[in-house]
Amino acid sequence: MRYVILAACGAGAALLASCAAPEKKVSAVPVDCAQLAVKFAPAGTRITAAESVPAGATVTGMAQPYPMPAHCKVTGRMHERTGTDGKPYAIGFEMRMPAPWNGRFLLQANGGNDGVVQPAFGNVVSGGATTNALMQGFAVLSSDAGHAMERSPEVGLVGGNLFGVDPQARLDYGYQANGKLAPMARQLIATHYGEPPKRSYMMGCSNGGRHAMVAASRYADQFDGVIAGNPGFNLPKAAVQHAWDIQAFSAVNPDIKAAFPPSDMKLVADKVLEKCDALDGLADGMVDNMPACQKAFDIKALQCTGGKTAQCLSAPQVTALVKVFAGPVNRKGEKLYSDWPWDAGVGASQIGFGSWRAWKLQGPIAGLPIIGALGAGSVAYVFSTPPKPVAGNPPALIKSLLDYNFDTDAPRVFATDAKYTESSVQFMTPPNATDLSPFKARGGKMIVYHGNSDPVFSVNDTINWYEGLNRNHAGKAADFARLFTVPGLNHCQGGPATEQFDMLTALVNWVEKGQAPESVLATARPGVNPDVPAGWQSNGKPRSRPLCPWPQQARYKGAGDINDAASFRCQ
Ligand code: CA
Repeated sequence: MRYVILAACGAGAALLASCAAPEKKVSAVPVDCAQLAVKFAPAGTRITAAESVPAGATVTGMAQPYPMPAHCKVTGRMHERTGTDGKPYAIGFEMRMPAPWNGRFLLQANGGNDGVVQPAFGNVVSGGATTNALMQGFAVLSSDAGHAMERSPEVGLVGGNLFGVDPQARLDYGYQANGKLAPMARQLIATHYGEPPKRSYMMGCSNGGRHAMVAASRYADQFDGVIAGNPGFNLPKAAVQHAWDIQAFSAVNPDIKAAFPPSDMKLVADKVLEKCDALDGLADGMVDNMPACQKAFDIKALQCTGGKTAQCLSAPQVTALVKVFAGPVNRKGEKLYSDWPWDAGVGASQIGFGSWRAWKLQGPIAGLPIIGALGAGSVAYVFSTPPKPVAGNPPALIKSLLDYNFDTDAPRVFATDAKYTESSVQFMTPPNATDLSPFKARGGKMIVYHGNSDPVFSVNDTINWYEGLNRNHAGKAADFARLFTVPGLNHCQGGPATEQFDMLTALVNWVEKGQAPESVLATARPGVNPDVPAGWQSNGKPRSRPLCPWPQQARYKGAGDINDAASFRCQ
């Protein structure tokens, strides 16, 4: 007998709430790992390596080193071709198939500009992952989404964006790579284990969250569940905000990081807390009643009445923040992206933790904000039709955003031409984002989460999307899609927040056991994330909170340890 059946639970029975997961574990395989290199050869796919990785290998990108199960690692390329720029293109991928296998497939969607095949571990998307899909027995696929990042002194900081001149590479990055990878991955799994996966999932944050939302819309037939963290589902429009922010901050000081020293943004965060912390019934350094805070807090009240001091902001600084938080508009006053909420996480400054400061004001590259050092290249090459080339050095990139015209350049995100037949909004965003009827009809489940202080993609945009989804689904979107807003959280991690959580287990329980997530436990990382106050712990246990499905918010029960999630409820 080839298979070790640990728990009987067939595909049909899995729909029942009582059915336990994992359904079964497959620990012997009909086609050995090394044989896959010759035995797995569907049209358009080339396996470049297949190797057995022994148990115990450590995984990267997690809170601490964890040992991996033994697994088969397969690397390959799909649809190799020469682009219109004369350069070689392919959809590069890596698949890790563990023994034992739990019968599930996870497509790990990556962040940024893609262009790199990140290790296919399926680390849960949060600050400081403590588990991953591979450890749990999933077969995990990761890809470069159809292009390889270029690295050379000549291309500099736009090496991750140059693919945008090739029309097909744009479409693969936008959505087509995942549409080609998922069926191939299931075939590869079937070849190795002798049967296809029972369940298919996708998980990612940032651009990876966008991939997941696009998949629920375009490839509803391919995924049973998706996790979209801090999703950049309107990425081309969010990129218009990059130029808006750079222009606003530069008006205060051409040296962008000097426009707001860390102490000034800390002041803003402190003042937000002063007005909003207790609106949720508990002064705990977290703004749980985010909607009420928007009415209570007025940035203009921070403006100095005399000279600039540590306790106030200059008039140009206030003007800049008013602009940035209102979001970009054109000369007619038409909104080009979204507005942004005031929250206690806007003072976060830790580079490497996806902080507000790192993205908007001062990041790891040449002291420039990430929206300038890296975002400008995306605006130029990927989100403009036709591409508007820019040199890959910091002064040129910043200049391109300073020169950005919101009346004549912003419309390029909607533009097409004979060569680029889909606009960047078309290829990057989910079509009919608020109508997920096919996904719902097939029993698909979707968990979205978003940091209230995300500096890159506005949580307000995601809330607006969710409310539109709810309207389109007769007020019952929560039956298949739930949004968890996270107070203080910055971009996928960081900020004064309970940023460590496991949405993957929550999603699997929803899809396979019918247990809809009423709340998800989240934990802070005092001593690891420097933006978390030292007092966020009791007796050595870090602060925890329930994350609540929108529009619910966490509320203190009125008694019990304020650092313990058990003292809170969602309401
Ligand atoms: Ca509070």
